[in-house]
Amino acid sequence: MAEYINPRGDAPAEEMPELSDGDDDDNDEDLWQWAEEDEEDSRPATVTCLFCDRLLSSVPATLQHCAADHQVNLVEVIQRHHLDDYGYIKMINFIRSTKCDASGLTGLPDAPLPWESEDFLLPVLQDDPLLQTDPEELCEDASLSVCSSSGAQSHDALQQRTHAAEERASTSEQALTRAMDDLHKLKLLAQGLVLNAETSRPANQSAVADLREDEDEAYFSSYGHYSIHEEMLKDKVRTESYRDFMYSNPEVFRDKVVLDVGCGTGILAMFAARAGAKQVIAVDQSEIIYKAMDIVRSNQLEDKITLIKGRIEDIKLPVEKVDIIISEWMGYFLLFESMLDSVLYARDRYLADGGSVYPDLCNLSLAAVGDAQKHRDHIAFWDDVYGFNMACMKQAVVPEAMVEMVKEDTLISEPAVIQTFDCNKVCLSELEFASDFSLKMTNTTECTALVGYFDIFFDKGCGNKVMFSTSPRVTKTHWKQTVFLLEKPFNVQAGEELQGKISVCKNKKDPRALWVTFDLPDGKHTYNLQ
Ligand code: SAH
Repeated sequence: MAEYINPRGDAPAEEMPELSDGDDDDNDEDLWQWAEEDEEDSRPATVTCLFCDRLLSSVPATLQHCAADHQVNLVEVIQRHHLDDYGYIKMINFIRSTKCDASGLTGLPDAPLPWESEDFLLPVLQDDPLLQTDPEELCEDASLSVCSSSGAQSHDALQQRTHAAEERASTSEQALTRAMDDLHKLKLLAQGLVLNAETSRPANQSAVADLREDEDEAYFSSYGHYSIHEEMLKDKVRTESYRDFMYSNPEVFRDKVVLDVGCGTGILAMFAARAGAKQVIAVDQSEIIYKAMDIVRSNQLEDKITLIKGRIEDIKLPVEKVDIIISEWMGYFLLFESMLDSVLYARDRYLADGGSVYPDLCNLSLAAVGDAQKHRDHIAFWDDVYGFNMACMKQAVVPEAMVEMVKEDTLISEPAVIQTFDCNKVCLSELEFASDFSLKMTNTTECTALVGYFDIFFDKGCGNKVMFSTSPRVTKTHWKQTVFLLEKPFNVQAGEELQGKISVCKNKKDPRALWVTFDLPDGKHTYNLQ
């Protein structure tokens, strides 16, 4: 799950936990014990035959003995009854506990088997080497030895064995993924149970909502640190756009009740108060609001601005309705952080008829990038790292969208707006969308990435409209751009239209993160923005 250390910048340094000096007597004792056990383990284990008292030196020797002296081919029994690990263990314990003879095994019907009972899971012999053997491996070893002894190419047999091992690894991987999913569900359930028990909340409140609360705690605590606010305030493109919009449109604010959703240091609330608002209610769940309280008092605006600590979704405002909602909710690629969800909640709950949300219009755009150097730095880099091949790392690197400044001269297409949102109208479900796009190429070169960015407009009813853009073509902002690297760059011709489809949806396990999928001529590419 993503750590919301700092949704718009670098993580503040955390203290490192102290490392143990290793001078721990108990640990040393444990080590000795392990060493002794290891020594015991390394002694050759003898295997008692399943059908007589003979002791054999190894599992393969036991199999050979069973086949030669008792006419029981255990591998054949395993294969005939399709025994899995449990079935095999039960069979071994069944033979040992019932002391059945060989004929009892060879003439068995296909189902039901006499060792179905779970009782046969209990080992009859302590440390029975036959129980520590993987039946699948037994079968593979047998087929290998058949091949080698019959003179068939051992190379083929080895290949078969590798293939079977790969299949086993892939099955185990799938099982592990399922187990992780189950664990995640259990975690949700457990959290729901604990929280419901502790706070005697209605049982119908879902565990998922509780998990969301934990994630939100991390998110809001990241906004408690001054550095993220410093970064935002110093982003002149951003802050001056809000200021210019409010100061140059006083008629919009005069005598109005304004709600600032997520006020941070209180900067937007203070702009609104200075622009002539009658009352400003400023809400933030992060601890930064305590600083905002000091800041508002230091600027003698406490009569105009009411600060409330809490999530906008949880608190009750001191007024029924507000005339204007202002908020700076935009995340990387506009929608990362999902804070627009909270603004829409506030709009639907508190905005008076005829009221307005600002900013109101937002465009999300894409363009093609040709930057072979950057591609090499991020992708080809892994082919040779200090002389080692780390190419498998590419699988982890490519699907992570990157937030960075794109150089204007690496753009190789005209931009295309892929989605427009009107914050006064858009509804929650529309924040997940799919749309077709067409990028007109301006260069004949290799396309190495797609870049996403957004534009913001203060438009509705404004005599002086204000906008700003986070495009690579204009002054940089702290949002930078979002880069989707293509694993395999492809050639494009100037004048050509690159047709594609983009879909954006929330990551269900981490609803503030996004999945972005591109359908391009060479296939589907999915990226994670977290
Ligand atoms: N308005 C400030 C801060 C913007 S950052 C400025 O322009 O500088 C977004 C702020 O919104 C953060 O301080 C965060 O804690 C707050 N926030 C996000 N979601 C919120 C919610 N649902 N309820 C209350 N505050 C929220």
